[in-house]
Amino acid sequence: MANEPHLLNTKTMNSIVIIGGGHAAAQLCAGLVEAGQGARVHLVCEEPCEPYHRPPLSKAFLKNPDEAMQPHKAADWYREAGITLHLGDAATAIDRAARTVTLRSGTVLPYERLVLATGTRVRRLAGLPDGLDNVAMLRAVDQARDLRVRLAAAEDVTVLGGGFIGLEVAATAKAMGKTVRVIEVAPRLMGRAVSPELSAHVLATHRAAGIEVVLDAVVDGFAIDGTRLAELNINGKRQPVDLLLLCIGAVPETALAKAAGLDCADGIVVDAHMQTSDPAILAVGDCTRFPDRRAARPLRLESVQNANDQARTAVATLTDAAKPHDVLPWFWSEQGAMRLQMAGLVPAESTPGHVTVRRAAPGANPNAFSLFHYVDNQLVAAESANAPVDHMMSRKLLESGRSPDAAVVADASVPLKNHLA
Ligand SMILES: Cc1cc2nc3c(=O)[nH]c(=O)nc-3n(C[C@H](O)[C@H](O)[C@H](O)COP(=O)(O)OP(=O)(O)OC[C@H]3O[C@@H](n4cnc5c(N)ncnc54)[C@H](O)[C@@H]3O)c2cc1C
Repeated sequence: MANEPHLLNTKTMNSIVIIGGGHAAAQLCAGLVEAGQGARVHLVCEEPCEPYHRPPLSKAFLKNPDEAMQPHKAADWYREAGITLHLGDAATAIDRAARTVTLRSGTVLPYERLVLATGTRVRRLAGLPDGLDNVAMLRAVDQARDLRVRLAAAEDVTVLGGGFIGLEVAATAKAMGKTVRVIEVAPRLMGRAVSPELSAHVLATHRAAGIEVVLDAVVDGFAIDGTRLAELNINGKRQPVDLLLLCIGAVPETALAKAAGLDCADGIVVDAHMQTSDPAILAVGDCTRFPDRRAARPLRLESVQNANDQARTAVATLTDAAKPHDVLPWFWSEQGAMRLQMAGLVPAESTPGHVTVRRAAPGANPNAFSLFHYVDNQLVAAESANAPVDHMMSRKLLESGRSPDAAVVADASVPLKNHLA
């Protein structure tokens, strides 16, 4: 009977249950299948489809009504690998003593090892009710489909939040011929993730493309008319809203972990093996807070690379081949014609001994360059704009621990690969 709890016995107690069906879960499945463990795996996801790639959702997917979502693997692959899928069915509780997970449908799954890969959820604007006709959010493919329809019909788009996803959608909307305004409460764009120099370049590029960008904005009220958001109060002025995209960040999805008594601190706390405070439970991806030798405090990262690499570490832990996680973080964002690629952790502005050098990319494009960040003469991060070769080389340099002299790196006539020799 529906919603009546029942213990699933089709697989024995040696199951690996994965909660979440995003990038980390997809990589976990791939790694466990490669390790010959596919038949142990139950994948539980509240979304009704197999794991798919999220990055296109703020880019090509929005522009083209025929663009399909991109699954990591076809449904057949899971079946052939012996993975049991529980799609469209959220996990609602973990019983750590009994080692079971209860799903919304009433199914109870026993586990030997449990992996939380629950990602993040969109941060809401305080007081703004859900379900307004002209307010969109973007995390999952159903929201992207919805935004695609609303975007096609809108003339004027307001993006609240000047982070990566907001700026990607803003650039996409501009390319579709919309009037676009980005409202950011901080003094610069993408302020938590990139350097002031890169923020300034991105700001200038978007403004040159005709996007209005308001920084240091004070958003202190709104007016609702029926089922629509009519106005936002921005810097003391009432701004009419045609379509609003709420892009003010994401919060880690830790509700299940917290309810189960696992240590959480703006993310599920894991060690270098992706193990939570319960040795039978691991966590991976956007939902985790993890130690990294490059950072003074444990990190929480939201990137495909981080989700994939943490999943690889978790597979090693689950298959008794444990290896501590020690991976260079890197990230990319496509904003219109601009391709941004970051490697390492950009030091905070106030870091003593921090020096930034700019290196032009090969060719004549003045908007193609990299910024190399040094702390006490040690290379710690690099940011590239339209310079994919320099980005790849900077990753190799950072991974190797080499630190060529800053003045030499700034000399674009010397290929970066020479510094690796
Ligand atoms: C529009 C968009 C564009 C992006 N672009 C880029 C980019 O260009 N480059 C980049 O590096 N990163 C990008 N990202 C970020 C990247 O997609 C994430 O870092 C990555 O998806 C994290 O993977 P994850 O598996 O940790 O979480 P997610 O992919 O978020 O997956 C979490 C899954 O868990 C499910 N879930 C949560 N709770 C439960 C529960 N209780 N029961 C069952 N299922 C549950 C969720 O529904 C979701 O399917 C983008 C993200 C978005 C939304």
